[in-house]
Amino acid sequence: MRKSHLIKPVLGNNYPVISHGKGIYLYDKDGKQYIDGSSGAITANIGHGVREIAEAMWNQAQHVSFIYRSQFTSDAAEQLAEKIAEYAPVDLNSVFFVNSGSEATETALKVAIQYFQEQGNMTKTKVISRWTSYHGITLGALSMSGHQLRRQRFTPLLEDFPAAPAPYCYQCPLKETYPGCGVKCADELETIIQSIGPDQIAAFIAEPVIGASGGAIAPPDEYFARIRAVCDKYDILFIADEVMTGMGRTGKMFAMEHWNVIPDIIALGKGMSAGYTPMAATIVSDRIMNVIEAGSKVVMSGHTFSANPQSAAVCLAVLDYMEKNKLQDNAEVTGQYLITQLQRLQWKYPLIGDIRGKGLLCGIELVRDPISREPFDLSTKVTDRLLSICFEKGLLVYPAVGGVTGFSGDSIIISPPLTVTKEQIADVIDILDQSLSDLTTQLI
Ligand code: PLP
Repeated sequence: MRKSHLIKPVLGNNYPVISHGKGIYLYDKDGKQYIDGSSGAITANIGHGVREIAEAMWNQAQHVSFIYRSQFTSDAAEQLAEKIAEYAPVDLNSVFFVNSGSEATETALKVAIQYFQEQGNMTKTKVISRWTSYHGITLGALSMSGHQLRRQRFTPLLEDFPAAPAPYCYQCPLKETYPGCGVKCADELETIIQSIGPDQIAAFIAEPVIGASGGAIAPPDEYFARIRAVCDKYDILFIADEVMTGMGRTGKMFAMEHWNVIPDIIALGKGMSAGYTPMAATIVSDRIMNVIEAGSKVVMSGHTFSANPQSAAVCLAVLDYMEKNKLQDNAEVTGQYLITQLQRLQWKYPLIGDIRGKGLLCGIELVRDPISREPFDLSTKVTDRLLSICFEKGLLVYPAVGGVTGFSGDSIIISPPLTVTKEQIADVIDILDQSLSDLTTQLI
């Protein structure tokens, strides 16, 4: 008898089968309810089972679901590009659609290199990132990521891109203390550029709030303005990877708005479709597009499913739903409430070292000693343990751990759908409280 099966993240693990979802809740086939406290992978921004999205899918499917972007365009894709550009800073007007966050950051990398090539500059081909960062799983995106676990098998295939220290104040990679440090991590970018040579570097890429590899780490307020100035000084493009933070997650449409800093390229994904379809985008500034338009006229990237009308119609409906229900505002208000509730838990559990985040992208860092901030030994698997205790009790949270170079700590992300109410946050806190209590007992 032939044995065929779906390849799951960890072979041999038993993953419950989900039968349906409604709002912030998911239900498995045995009837167990889970609070989606992480929106899956910080994706299900409008919650599950929204009827308006199903209707938009059906409406578009009745007309046409697929066209090939080299032959036709569609109203849905044109309207979505217009809508996204309306949200974006004033000179980011061109949108390239892809199917995942990895493709969005990899397209950003290619567009940055192409921008210089079109001007006859063939040496600017490196992208500086930060070690505590994650920009995706494909080889170009992984070359820009510091995720050790995901890199290690493929290191020979990855580009040797330089990395700068992250603005990670709780465990500063430069062993400095804010604000006395004068945000030295931003100055380090300039030192790296000078040592490699600005003529080699096309772009600097950063997550506004570090997600998967750090656990909702927001930088000091002056950090990104300094980064922008350094990039301008050396004619280096600034790419904001808003795959996790974009589309209202942090209480602003784009997280970079928190610091009024305008990137040259923005990568989007996850919340853009809220998980209802695979869709992502790279938004490009006029400065870049003018050069390409005056040159080859072709942005050298693209996939069979790029600008898929079915997916575009879904994203339009998601954005419409967000606007109607003022979800970005809710993210700000309930996010503040979530942080204060998490801070209450911090008083109770010494293993909570740091509480942080922006809007509804919140993180908890777990440490062995809250005074010295000494992390747990990775072999203790504290994050995994907390995740599975929460899971048993019906709460989903997201791990931000994985042997990241320069960071070996344990963090989790709490990021429920942007529809979440204060009452529902109280339920999240309640389960987290019980789970931390169980974990503390296990660790004694
Ligand atoms: N960039 C950031 C900031 C991410 O958090 C992720 C995924 O977690 C990616 C890129 C990659 O996105 P995807 O998993 O859709 O390829």
